[in-house]
Amino acid sequence: MRTIEHWIAGKATTGISERTAPVFNPATGEQQAEVLLADVSDVEAAIAAARDAFPDWSQTSISRRTKVLFAFREIVNARAAEIASAITDEHGKVLSDALGEVQRGLEVVEFACGIPSLLKGDYSDQVSTDVDTFSFREPLGVVAGITPFNFPAMVPMWMFPVAIACGNSFVLKPSERDPSASILIARMWQAAGLPDGVFNVVHGDKTAVDTILDSPDVAAVSFVGSTPIAKYIHERGTASGKRVQALGGAKNHAIILPDADIDFAADHLAAAAFGSAGERCMAISAAVAVGDAGDRIVAAVNERARAVKVGSGRDGDSEMGPVVTREAQQRIKGLIGTGEEQGATISVDGRDLSVEGYEEGFFVGPTVIDDVTTEMDVYTQEIFGPVLSVVRTDTVDEAIALINANPYGNGTAIFTNSGESARRFQRGVHVGMIGINVPVPVPMAYYSVGGWKDSLFGDKHVHGPEGVRFYTRAKVVTARWPRSEHASDASFHFPTSK
Ligand code: NAD
Repeated sequence: MRTIEHWIAGKATTGISERTAPVFNPATGEQQAEVLLADVSDVEAAIAAARDAFPDWSQTSISRRTKVLFAFREIVNARAAEIASAITDEHGKVLSDALGEVQRGLEVVEFACGIPSLLKGDYSDQVSTDVDTFSFREPLGVVAGITPFNFPAMVPMWMFPVAIACGNSFVLKPSERDPSASILIARMWQAAGLPDGVFNVVHGDKTAVDTILDSPDVAAVSFVGSTPIAKYIHERGTASGKRVQALGGAKNHAIILPDADIDFAADHLAAAAFGSAGERCMAISAAVAVGDAGDRIVAAVNERARAVKVGSGRDGDSEMGPVVTREAQQRIKGLIGTGEEQGATISVDGRDLSVEGYEEGFFVGPTVIDDVTTEMDVYTQEIFGPVLSVVRTDTVDEAIALINANPYGNGTAIFTNSGESARRFQRGVHVGMIGINVPVPVPMAYYSVGGWKDSLFGDKHVHGPEGVRFYTRAKVVTARWPRSEHASDASFHFPTSK
């Protein structure tokens, strides 16, 4: 059985802990590897490596740091298929989707290649007689990323390119369910010339996470995962004095107005609900059909749901792969069952899907649940599977109010041909990322990603300009170079400008 090791100070290492977790191939249902689960001393070794690497890296000139980033960009770009294959084998998503994930991560690397411009400070000349003021930003030190299973390459890449470009050193604790991509990436950093210790990977569970959260040597933590854990990370990390950004779960709604192009909306809704088997933080899981859009959109989405080609992610014909684990598969099927028990209509049922040749795989077919109300479990819970719930309302204002009453606020979309309705929606919803006829509105790398309410704990979104601010802190310098012939103007009152 292959063992997936940690990466500390530029080397693969088994560390001390002998605990492991299985890593499955979700398409076949077979265990294909085991991943080490770090104990406290393994995590401390990774943090120590990062701490030792920080002084030199933070003092490395911006030009030299940028050259490493450009080299890293070239390597990831050239070897994207290798990362994508590792993702497909451990996560289950189809190869084209895995490649898309690497591409979106790469765009954050490209953004971070612009670090010379991003780190430019401000300068004010002659704020007082012979006095100038200027500001610049410095890296924090050791920063950590704790990431979810659903984007094993992209979500870590939301974090470390920016953190490292800013001069920090990094400890990544990826998901233990699909850990291989992070080790491939660590080797690519090394090939790009990043000094050993600046990027480290420790695999593990709560023990590893808690060690990071409590370590006095870690200055900041970026987390992406489910809401209960995000809240916990934020509370425990900030209690030990760290800067924390913790992105949580989601229930993303798409409103369909009667004036929308129903075929266009149905194509995009199906892709947004069933792509990556619904295991995207920005997947649409609730369609809010307004007025007479309801029956038309349900009929059109049902047709698309039934046509989705489900199979192994390695099969070029597959549009949707399995979900990540047997537990996830059982949980999703169980939740669909609660919908039926609680009075919803299962209009397309994916529970009994079996994929020929992959009978033991963790598959759930695309599922559409109609007549859902906001009290039902399928609505209140984040299903994180290929399940679209349809809720009906009479007006766009009711639809907006429904979205705002939901505790999550990650992403949302509207399908309409009315600019007036779209504008009312974009201004009225309490959600961080909004799509207008765009169902999965994940911002580009040069904007920042983040939700509102229970979808984000902390006050900075990830990557883009907010990422640069998160991974740096400001200094403001007030400077004077007195000429010897000038009389001293020192006084005991509070300094004011002259
Ligand atoms: P998760 O919360 O179970 O795990 C995330 C990370 O936390 C993993 O590294 C895991 O090892 C660690 N972890 C799990 N339990 C822990 C515990 N008790 N104590 C400390 N650490 C713990 O999430 P997941 O199942 O891997 O990922 C899916 C979730 O992530 C979904 O809720 C999804 O919406 C969310 N997500 C959100 C975004 C976003 O942008 N807001 C992006 C991607 C995923």
